Amino acid sequence: MADFGTIDEARHRAAELKREIAANDELYYVLDSPAIEDHEYDALLRELGEIERAYPEILTSDSPNARVRGALRPEFRKLAHAVPMQSLDNAYSKAELGSFFERTARALGDDSGGCSWVCEPKIDGLAVSLTYADGVLERGATRGDGTVGEDVTRNIRTIRSLPPRLKRCSEGTVEIRGEVCMSREDFAELNRAREESGEPLFANPRNAAAGSLRQLDRKVTASRKLKIFLYHVVDAARLGMRSQGDLLRWLEEEGLPTHGHAALCRDADEIYAYLEEWDRSRFMDSINTDGVVVKLDDLGLRDRLGSTAKAPRWAMAFKYPPEEKRTKVLGIDVSVGRTGALTPTARLEPVRLSGTTVRRASLHNQDEIDRKDVRVGDVVWVHKAGEIIPEILRVDFDARTGNEVPFAMPRVCPVCGTEAVRLPPEVAVRCPNRSCGAQLQEGLLHFVSRDCMDIDGMGERIIKQLAESGLVKSAADIYGLSLEDLTGLDRIAAKSARNIMDAIDASRGRPLHAVINALGIRNVGKKTARDIASRFRGMDALIAASEQELANLGGVGPTIAASIVSHFGDSHNMSVVRRLEAYGVSMKSGAGDEPEASPGENGKKIFAGKRMVFTGELETMPRQEAERVAESMGAHTSGSVSKRTDVVVVGANPGSKYNKALSLGVEIWDENMFLERLKGE
Ligand code: NAD
Repeated sequence: MADFGTIDEARHRAAELKREIAANDELYYVLDSPAIEDHEYDALLRELGEIERAYPEILTSDSPNARVRGALRPEFRKLAHAVPMQSLDNAYSKAELGSFFERTARALGDDSGGCSWVCEPKIDGLAVSLTYADGVLERGATRGDGTVGEDVTRNIRTIRSLPPRLKRCSEGTVEIRGEVCMSREDFAELNRAREESGEPLFANPRNAAAGSLRQLDRKVTASRKLKIFLYHVVDAARLGMRSQGDLLRWLEEEGLPTHGHAALCRDADEIYAYLEEWDRSRFMDSINTDGVVVKLDDLGLRDRLGSTAKAPRWAMAFKYPPEEKRTKVLGIDVSVGRTGALTPTARLEPVRLSGTTVRRASLHNQDEIDRKDVRVGDVVWVHKAGEIIPEILRVDFDARTGNEVPFAMPRVCPVCGTEAVRLPPEVAVRCPNRSCGAQLQEGLLHFVSRDCMDIDGMGERIIKQLAESGLVKSAADIYGLSLEDLTGLDRIAAKSARNIMDAIDASRGRPLHAVINALGIRNVGKKTARDIASRFRGMDALIAASEQELANLGGVGPTIAASIVSHFGDSHNMSVVRRLEAYGVSMKSGAGDEPEASPGENGKKIFAGKRMVFTGELETMPRQEAERVAESMGAHTSGSVSKRTDVVVVGANPGSKYNKALSLGVEIWDENMFLERLKGE
């Protein structure tokens, strides 16, 4: 056992860990926005557990290891759980699982011989309880603190795979439990849309699912494509079930979705084989699973074992270690995006990670490269953040040979050679040349994409040729193309060319929001474009709108307002709009321009859920006052900057937090920007 020093030292460390765990609980359970990975959080819990085992006198009933953790959002009605919703104990190795089997055998005595277990994938979602009364879905609640949950009945009814009525059971009340989650694909799509419209991103599918279910506006929940899998029936023996196998069959017969990869295992070896098999195949499944739940099959034996205050004694969650692999940085490539931002990406020696082969990982900007000190030729540790986005964690400095080459962002755009610029406080370096080939091609790809002008058939290869040949120098030139222009391109069949011409023609009637989105105005994505289109009758009214007028619109705010005004203040951009109009592209609002459901965050969109840090002296109010105001608007303030911080508000004489925010690429507001946003809300 580790040495924790004297009891006073151990007590001090335990208190520190409890504070850290409580702070992370708040971010995870209340804000659905964790600052650390689950395995890092689990390591804190384990360290506390080890101290509590070494010094049992330190263990108190409020220890996070002794109770169900969770939180309730005040906006939701509370619903009490007739039977507490518990957590699970965790095992991180076969040895820990083995001890669990031994404990169970001791407790059951002779009856333990030959008892079977059911292994089920541990779905990484949000636990819910459903009540069906006389076969009809009557209520849905989150786990909350285990005793009381949040009433999410209306939201849960929007989950398509959940039947409003059971197939067979039509009498009495039955409580069913399971997990609400989001597929990896839907999570990636949701974050893409949020990034476009400047909303904070969800850290992983679990947090996206929790944030989506706990919405005040059920239309938002309905739009998020949530999934649900059921795995438990409360008081199942009353309905004649004797085992977990019976229970899973019952769920299926009633038409309730189950995960479908459960297996009955007769002994520890079969369980270990299941763990290995699921570890190999789990990444093929579109739902994130972070482990396997091993449950005693016999419901009668479960009753004999009972539970602690936190978890049943008849089940154990086996958690897979996080996947981290070593690989080599072969090079660092710089690409140019639609807005001219130069982004460095590490080219990696291919490595299998969470089910796919990873060849590249974004390094975001020079500051990030400097912070991690990544050099070409370095051996690095990589993982997939949230099991999705490849990321370089750290350099293996011990593996350095001295031949590694430090990287510096090019001073000129790698595509057009124009001198690149960096405008503080932005971290990104940009190519300022609007005719830059890379920007033009990225901009055209955006213009023809489905959420914009939806010109089917005009893919990357064709756009590249059109841009490189000079046939298309701006988006408006697309409407001046002839059939001969297209058939003259390399490898394009006459039929495809005709289809593209038809698609170009049809795109003239796209709704106003699609045209606004297509213009590629910085900070204006799909959702903002919709918000704007629903408020202005046509493009001319939008062009004529003042910054103030725009900033006062819900869902826009000062940054976006400034972007819009600056976009139309540019003669090149205006000429694109006028030429599109002359080519017959509709610039009027019509069908399809109705607003999209609001994020349902009480209208407090700018501050709600944002993690903010204040540094330096503010002129208009003391810093504590500013923090209090931000918190009253739904923000979460903290004293230190991390990569998860959303915004740092900088006053006069800022401290090191300002530098850290710059190095991490965190959004920075000055006092005026902060005040403007306050007014905006
Ligand atoms: P848990 O998520 O580790 O396990 C218990 C839960 O597993 C159950 O409540 C149930 O919802 C779920 N589950 C999924 N599939 C199941 C199945 N087939 N059968 C039964 N249950 C199943 O424990 P917890 O108390 O809900 O949450 C604690 C965990 O949450 C931590 O261990 C950590 O991983 C994560 N967490 C992370 C942070 C962070 O900051 N990253 C903060 C708090 C909690």
